[in-house]
Amino acid sequence: MVNKEKRKEFYTTSVVLYKTIFNHVSNNKFPSIILKSDEHIGEIYFTSSNLNSPFEEKYGTFLLKFFNANFSSFETAYNTFFCFYGFSILEEFYKDIPKAQLFKSTEYFYETYESIYIKIKRKLKELQYLMKRCIDYMYNINNNLEDKNYLPFEKYLAYIIENNLFKYSTNIDIFYYQQFAHDTLNIAVESIAPKIVREHLENGIIDVNDSPVFHTSYLSNLLYVSLLEIASNKDIKIKACKNCGKYFISSKNTEKYCDIAYYQNEQTCKIIGATNSYIKKRKSVEGIKFYRNNYQRRLMQAKRSDDEQVKLAFENWKSLAKVKFKEFNNKEISENELLEWMVENKDN
Ligand SMILES: [Zn+2]
Repeated sequence: MVNKEKRKEFYTTSVVLYKTIFNHVSNNKFPSIILKSDEHIGEIYFTSSNLNSPFEEKYGTFLLKFFNANFSSFETAYNTFFCFYGFSILEEFYKDIPKAQLFKSTEYFYETYESIYIKIKRKLKELQYLMKRCIDYMYNINNNLEDKNYLPFEKYLAYIIENNLFKYSTNIDIFYYQQFAHDTLNIAVESIAPKIVREHLENGIIDVNDSPVFHTSYLSNLLYVSLLEIASNKDIKIKACKNCGKYFISSKNTEKYCDIAYYQNEQTCKIIGATNSYIKKRKSVEGIKFYRNNYQRRLMQAKRSDDEQVKLAFENWKSLAKVKFKEFNNKEISENELLEWMVENKDN
């Protein structure tokens, strides 16, 4: 289920809660799943979400997590993909996927799924490669410059026709008008009237922007739907993060870093990148460079001098410079004005 306008997507599944917890994002109504930041592992739970309380993620997350998943081992596959979405979507590769349950131990959990994973790993990686190639082609990522002057949607269609991706649309059930299902309690059929509908449209209980609900136990089919959703949305673009290389959705042209986090309290590239470019930017400000050099000189001077006045003047100059930096950071003075002040007051 997708909501284009609010940039959200919703899903239901059974997941094994091993090393994970529910994550409540402030502007989300429903939780998502996230890895615990500490290593402590207690009992292995499982949970099933349903239409009344689905999991809620940012628009496009499922597709991106699949692209970014590390399928090299069972453990990495769990930590980057299956812990969020469960194993039940693997039916096309393995007929009797064991249901999520209360596992008594880590060993038991591994025993249940690891051998199955090893059997299907190659097919999973092939599917990932097929989908990634499409995205690289559509958005010219990872040095793929082919058909650069064509629209992503045109390239998407060319790719899916050429590779017959339509075959991944045959094991999916689509339920229309179930979008209201998760708020059925708020919609009383007996008293429904245009007046009530208007209220519900305003307060968001009825949301006609929600998509139909897609049901499938085939990963490929879910990917097909997600890919179509992204490809047909002109407002977004997929990029590779300049810091970690992961695929992410960008709605602004200037965005370079992803905000993908798997763990609780994980620092995203966006935050790290912003801090780095802030430091870089500051290093190139002439007034700051001048201050640094002058600071070293005056510090030595103050240290060597026996004159209390010199030490006092140094301290005084430092705190005045601090005020100037504050003004510069608040954009009250320009870069030039900062430099001028630094030059004029270098010996005061
Ligand atoms: Zn990144």
